[in-house]
Amino acid sequence: MTSGRRPVDVAIVGGGIVGTSAAALLAEAGTRVLLAERASIGAGASGRNSGSIQHPFDPVLAPFYHRSLQLYAEVGELATDDPGVQGFRLPAEPNGILLVAHSGEAIEQEARAIAEIAPELNPEVLEGPRVRALEPTLAPEVVACRLNTGYAVPPAAATDAFAVRAERAGGIIELGASAVVWLEAGRALGLIVDGHRVAAGSVLVAAGPWTPDVLARDGGWRPVVPIWGLNVDVALPSAPRHILEELGVEAVGEPSGWSPSVDDDVAGVPSVFSLVTVAGSSTLGSTFLPAEPDAMRMAPELRRRGSRFVPSLAEAPIRSTRICARPQSRDGRPLLGRVPGAGNLFVAAGHGPWGISLGPASAELVVDLIVGLRMSVPSEVDPTRFGPPTILN
Ligand SMILES: Cc1cc2nc3c(=O)[nH]c(=O)nc-3n(C[C@H](O)[C@H](O)[C@H](O)COP(=O)(O)OP(=O)(O)OC[C@H]3O[C@@H](n4cnc5c(N)ncnc54)[C@H](O)[C@@H]3O)c2cc1C
Repeated sequence: MTSGRRPVDVAIVGGGIVGTSAAALLAEAGTRVLLAERASIGAGASGRNSGSIQHPFDPVLAPFYHRSLQLYAEVGELATDDPGVQGFRLPAEPNGILLVAHSGEAIEQEARAIAEIAPELNPEVLEGPRVRALEPTLAPEVVACRLNTGYAVPPAAATDAFAVRAERAGGIIELGASAVVWLEAGRALGLIVDGHRVAAGSVLVAAGPWTPDVLARDGGWRPVVPIWGLNVDVALPSAPRHILEELGVEAVGEPSGWSPSVDDDVAGVPSVFSLVTVAGSSTLGSTFLPAEPDAMRMAPELRRRGSRFVPSLAEAPIRSTRICARPQSRDGRPLLGRVPGAGNLFVAAGHGPWGISLGPASAELVVDLIVGLRMSVPSEVDPTRFGPPTILN
């Protein structure tokens, strides 16, 4: 029974960057698509991130970044009359990333490592007056490595843009609609949305860190876990033009880099400094924690830590804070493709800290698989590496 709801070709769970990109690409190809989002578009990290579209420092994932840039460029100028939806346009040139540190040796070493894995980023080490000439807001002792990547966009804008595209192409987006996969005999028949069945030819789960809850409700399959980040919006009299990221940001997608524990003393909570300014708003980040940090206590601490790099942060008024979870996969790479054990059930999740940068191309890969334009995916992102969810065993 489908409770009178019209069947669709593809049903998607999740209105983040991945789900909305997939919905737009499918709808624009003439596929009848339904996207169920339990809250609102961009309710998760896709609406609350730092807003940097950037290279992921991983040669396997780099093609997803380059292709996503093309897909973002194709969005063109997206404007809407809806005050709740942000306009989008990919800047013509990257703002550039300055990896910042207090040790010249560490920066030199990282620049060499990046040059080996991503020579297209043209890492250039800058010290002393050359750093201040480029970014006068930086503290005098800061050393930097400039990377040719990093497009600053309003955090929710990319996701909003694809949701608008999906709807303009006839895709159905249901908000406030909590969904689970309608499974029978190891086959996905569609979705159960708030208790109502919707039949679908294929199902795509793009539910970010909650993807395992949708696919294996007994909790026995956890290749993606939430890693909580705090972002703080600050008012800076004079903001950097570059995106600033503390040395170490390149490793935040690697499980070996996580050893955070939620401590009563905020001074013990690890963080990696970042600062992204777009349209007069500066986002200061961030934590990488297995549980939600206390935003009220942690925000001033992030600002204090950031002031070691940008001294004016010490006095910068805090405008707001936002917390969200990165969908972090166990090996730092997303799961893109068929869910092992169920032929017409697909997954696209686990982008960790790089979902805005890679999401559209990831969605395209899975869409191509769903519509039969490709037969396989690169082994490094194939979900089979984690085995089937327990409900499909
Ligand atoms: C602090 C922070 C800063 C970041 N900064 C950057 C950055 O600068 N650049 C970058 O590239 N990436 C950044 N990221 C990472 C990026 O935001 C994520 O990788 C990306 O947004 C994940 O997108 P997603 O679509 O996979 O998941 P999500 O955005 O989590 O979307 C999943 C959606 O599924 C919905 N959902 C879940 N369960 C159900 C259900 N049962 N039924 C219906 N809907 C459901 C949720 O409500 C949610 O809206 C940042 C992340 C954090 C936390």
